[in-house]
Amino acid sequence: MIPFSPPRIDQKIIDEVSKALLSGWITTGPRTKLFEQKISEYCKCKKTIAVNSWTNGMEVLLRWWGIGPGDEVIIPAYTYCASANVIIHTGAKPVMVDINPSDFNISIENIKSAITNKTKVIMPVDISGLPCDYEELFDLINNPEILSLFDPNNEKQKKLGRILIASDAAHSFGAEYANQKSGSLADITCFSFHAVKNLTTAEGGAICFNLPKEFNHDSIYNEMCIKILHGQSKDALSKTKKGGWKYDVVEPGYKCNMTDIQAAIGLVELERYQENLQRRMKIFHLYDEGFKNKEWAITPISKTTKKTSSFHLYLLRIKNINEEQRNEIIQHIFDKEVSVNVHFQPLPILSAYKNLGYEISNYPNAWDNYSCEITLPVYYNLSNENVYKVISTVIESVNSVIK
Ligand SMILES: *Cc1c(COP(=O)(O)O)cnc(C)c1O
Repeated sequence: MIPFSPPRIDQKIIDEVSKALLSGWITTGPRTKLFEQKISEYCKCKKTIAVNSWTNGMEVLLRWWGIGPGDEVIIPAYTYCASANVIIHTGAKPVMVDINPSDFNISIENIKSAITNKTKVIMPVDISGLPCDYEELFDLINNPEILSLFDPNNEKQKKLGRILIASDAAHSFGAEYANQKSGSLADITCFSFHAVKNLTTAEGGAICFNLPKEFNHDSIYNEMCIKILHGQSKDALSKTKKGGWKYDVVEPGYKCNMTDIQAAIGLVELERYQENLQRRMKIFHLYDEGFKNKEWAITPISKTTKKTSSFHLYLLRIKNINEEQRNEIIQHIFDKEVSVNVHFQPLPILSAYKNLGYEISNYPNAWDNYSCEITLPVYYNLSNENVYKVISTVIESVNSVIK
């Protein structure tokens, strides 16, 4: 069986994790701090804080920005449930908009008509690793008409004076837009280092801050460190210093710090990340070549003059098929020992969101792209031979269903 996305666990990872385990300090400590610095250097953002998942990081971030009941946060209908779940947790309303038909990213045109005076945050999602249209997005939120709608409800929001762009970059670590890396494209960028992501720490995430210069990023970092550790004025490591036992709890905070064990994996992965990206790009090219003469194939956009994907997910679409035919093709592919996937079921078709009143008929592009989509395996050690096997298996399976 060709697996879909196995983690890269080799001796190098095992050695670094062992070192962390034996160092005498296994929770947040020097390795986590180093990992944060290396991410800031890599992404060229102003400050990075590591957390235990994208989900917890983004939720704390939204709460820090003052998001709660009465607020609206705009997201695409086509994303993983985490993007919407964290908004629900804060008490705010996820306002879903449709995606572009050409790729799988949020449509800026559709965002425009969804903005109200309750909109405090827009959360673009770089689906599959392809950056969203950030220039168009910033032009939109800085448009005088949109600015005049903005109604801040705290000092931070007032200081920014416009809608915050908090990017869901769970897929796009290493992606580029106008020669800048994901992590420095939005005000805030949240990465996921979950086991199936391009860069993994088993579970984990990071929040990159890139707010305008009026914001003091060192004090934001300190504030966030307190927030993600129960509101304690000192972290566990500084409490172990001589006489350092006494601390205060300045607010009822959250608990979502990254451990040094996770950071040990991340440091190794980050060091060889460019090599990982190169291999992923190569696999994308092989797939593109393999399907280019098939008139039924719509291959995904992974590079434009402005954008370079992080090549996270290869989202193949099959023209003129319905959802049942797509499912049938997937069954054929699995029967031939190849693992594939579907990214994503649009949120309005999931019970939790259907029950809240979201209707898929309002998101025709999300439905169309979903119903004919099959995600192919991409990972560092998927051999060319196996890529060819995936290609021939997909072709055979499509031919057997659409005769
Ligand atoms: C994986 C993923 C997340 C959640 O990341 P976790 O680290 O598992 O919390 C959020 N958004 C998207 C688009 C994802 O694919």
